[in-house]
Amino acid sequence: MAEALQSEVRRRLAELAGNLRWTWSGEFDSLFREIDLDLWRRVNHNPAAFLADVDDTRIGARAADPEYRRRLEAACGSLQNYLKSGRHWASRHAPSLDLRPVAYFSAEFGLHESLPIYSGGLGILAGDHLKSCSDLGVPIWGVSILYRQGYFTQRIDAQGGQEEIYSDLDVERVPLEPALDGRGQPILIQMPTASGVFPIDLWLARVGRSRLVLLDGSRDPAAAHRDVFSARLYGGDLRTRLLQELILGVGGYRALLALGIRPGVLHLNEGHSAFALLEAIAQTMEEEGMRFDAAAESMRARAVFTTHTPLPAGHDRFPLDLIEEHLRPLRERLGLSSEDFTALGRADAGGADGTFCMTALALRLAFRSNAVSALHGHTTRGLWRGLWPERKTSEVPIGHITNGVHVPTWIAGEMDQLLRRRLAEDWPTRLSHADLWEKITDVPPAEIWDVKRRLKQEMLEFAARRLRKRQERLGLSGPPPGLDPEALTIGVARRFAEYKRAQLLLSDPDRLERLLRDEARPVQILFAGKAHPKDDVGKGILRALDERARDPRFSGRIIVLENYDMNVARHLVQGSDLWLNAPRRPLEACGTSGQKAVFNATLNLAVLDGWWAEAHDGSNGYSFGEGLTHTDTALQDRRDAVDLFDVLETQVLPDFFDRSPEGLPLKWIVRIQRALATLAWRYNSDRMAIDYVTRCYLAAAGALTSSHPADPWTRPPGV
Ligand SMILES: *Cc1c(COP(=O)(O)O)cnc(C)c1O
Repeated sequence: MAEALQSEVRRRLAELAGNLRWTWSGEFDSLFREIDLDLWRRVNHNPAAFLADVDDTRIGARAADPEYRRRLEAACGSLQNYLKSGRHWASRHAPSLDLRPVAYFSAEFGLHESLPIYSGGLGILAGDHLKSCSDLGVPIWGVSILYRQGYFTQRIDAQGGQEEIYSDLDVERVPLEPALDGRGQPILIQMPTASGVFPIDLWLARVGRSRLVLLDGSRDPAAAHRDVFSARLYGGDLRTRLLQELILGVGGYRALLALGIRPGVLHLNEGHSAFALLEAIAQTMEEEGMRFDAAAESMRARAVFTTHTPLPAGHDRFPLDLIEEHLRPLRERLGLSSEDFTALGRADAGGADGTFCMTALALRLAFRSNAVSALHGHTTRGLWRGLWPERKTSEVPIGHITNGVHVPTWIAGEMDQLLRRRLAEDWPTRLSHADLWEKITDVPPAEIWDVKRRLKQEMLEFAARRLRKRQERLGLSGPPPGLDPEALTIGVARRFAEYKRAQLLLSDPDRLERLLRDEARPVQILFAGKAHPKDDVGKGILRALDERARDPRFSGRIIVLENYDMNVARHLVQGSDLWLNAPRRPLEACGTSGQKAVFNATLNLAVLDGWWAEAHDGSNGYSFGEGLTHTDTALQDRRDAVDLFDVLETQVLPDFFDRSPEGLPLKWIVRIQRALATLAWRYNSDRMAIDYVTRCYLAAAGALTSSHPADPWTRPPGV
C-alpha cells in the first residue's frame, strides 16, 4: 500500500517535471522542495536530477500525507488543463498562425537555472518569449543548440578573482527528451560542413504549449569538430563561432523540417542565426525551382529580425576567407558568385571592410527589423543607416518593440497572492490590460510593506547561506558580514561589462563610506554578476568590488554574491528595496532586470537608458544622469557618479527613512504603487509577444496566403 502510494507520487512528480511549465507555477516548486529541501537546493532546483537522486523513503514520507497527495493531484490537473485549453488570446486574435507555427531562433534560451544554455539577458528574453507565447496560445518552436558544457558556474576566490567552472551536462538529468520519429526512432539530421557531413541529434524541451528543439553535435566523440558543439556558449575562436552559427541557422532550419514543422514565420533573436534565412531560401529554390531573387523575396516576407546590440563591436563579423571556406556549399546551392554572396553581409554600402556581418545579412533579408526599446531604435537606425544610403536616418526601416519579462516566472509567490487578493484572482491572464493595475493604488500601504519586508528577509537569508558556503569553501573563519533587515538594501546584479558601470559607486570612496556608515539611515549593497571569460576589464570590476566587500572601512555593508544565474536573480529582484542600473547611455539596449523588480515592489534607480528612458515619469522610481550622453566617457562617468550620490542622498534616503507613526515609509510605498500602476501592464512579455504577433507575425502569416505580401522594409506599423 505505502509502496504503491510512493510509486504513484513518483510517477506524478515525473509528469510535472516533464514540462517546464513548472518553472512558472509557484505551486509546483513546493511539491519537490518539501520532500528534501537540502537536495532540492543541491541540484539547483532541477526536478529531473532531484528525482534521480532522491531517497524513496523521503517520497514515501510525503506520500503518506493525504493533503500532499491532493495538492500533487491538483498540480497535475492544472498542468493538463493548461495544455488542453483551446481558449486563449491567439485563438481569438491570431488564428491564422495555427496553420504554420513561428520558428524562433536564438543562440541561448534562459528557461531555468537548471538548464545552463543561457548567459544573460538575450537568453532570458528568449525563454520569457516562449513562455508568454505558450500562455497566449501562440504556436511557436524555439530553436537553439545543446551546449554540452553550457555557460560556466562562477566562483570567486579569496582575492576576488573569477573562477570559471564548466561541467558536462548529463542529458539524463535535465528536462529534455530525444526527438523521435513516428516509429519511435531518434531523428538525426545531417550537417554539411567544409570538413564533411556529420550527424546532429535533436532534443526537445516542452515549455508549456511551446516547444524548444536543441541541436546536439556531440554524438561522435572522435570527430574533430566535436569541440564545436559539445562545447560552450560564446566560447572558442571565430571559427568555432562560425560553425556554431551554421549549426544554429542551417541545422536549425533543417531540424524543423525533419520534425515535420514548416514554419510560417522565421524570427531571428539577434544575428547569430541569420544563416537560417539562407537555408530557407535554398530549400525554396530547390522545392519550387525558383531563382535566388524570387526565393529571397518570398522568404523575406516571412522573416523577422530583432537586434539587441547598440555597440558596433557587439555584432558578429567574420573574415571573408572563413566565410568562403565554410559557406561555399550553401553559396553554390544559392547560385551566387562569391561577390554577390559577400555583398549580402556587407556592413557598409560603400567599400567593403573585408568582413561578413551577420546583422547586415539579417537586416537585408528580413521584412521586419526591430530594436528593443525606443531609444535603442533611434541608436540602431543611426548605426545601420549605411545600408540605406538614399534614406534619412529617421527613415531607416528599423522599428522597436520594447522587451518585457514573463511575470509568473519572476514574481514572488507572496506578491502573486497579494495581487490575487487585491486585483483579481485571474490577474496573470490579463496582465497587459492597463486598467487591471489601477486598483493597486487602493491597496493599504501596510499590506504592501508587510509583503516587501518578508521578501527582503527571505533574500537576506539566502544571501547569508551563500556567503557562509563561500567562506567554508575558502576556509575563512569568522561570521559572514551581518545583513541588516532595517537597512535600505540596494541590488546591483548584471554582467560585469565595462559599460554597465557596476562600480560607479566606488568612484568616490569617501562619499560611499559616509553613505554606508550612517547609523541613522543604514544602507547595504548586494552585488552579483559574471564577467565574460575573456573580459579582463569585467573581471577587474569584480575584483574591485570584492576588495571593497572585505574592506572594514565599509563595515561589511558591501556584499558580493557568487554565480549570478536565474536563481540568484530571482532572489535579488524580489528582495531588494532598490534596483540600481548604471549603464553608460545609450549602450543598454533595453535591460530587463529592472522590469522584474517592478513586479516585486522593488523601486528602480537607473540611468535614463534602454527601457527606463521611456518608462520613468518622475514618480514611479528614480533616475540619475539627466538623460545626457557625452562623447568623453570619463567625463560622463564622473558626472553620472556625482548625480547618483546626489539622488541617493536627497531623494532616495529621505523617502525610504521618513516613517509614519506606524513605521511605514508612505512616500516610498506610493512610488511602489505608481510603478505598478504605470509600468506593469507594459513591461511584461505578454505585451511584447502580442506586439510581435500584431506587428510582425500576422503580416508574415498573411504573406503565405495573400498575393500582396506586406511591403518589404517598412517599419513595423505603430512604432
Ligand atoms: C534578467 C537577467 C538578466 C538581464 O538583465 P539586465 O537588466 O539586462 O542586465 C541577466 N542575467 C540574469 C541572470 C537575469 O535574470
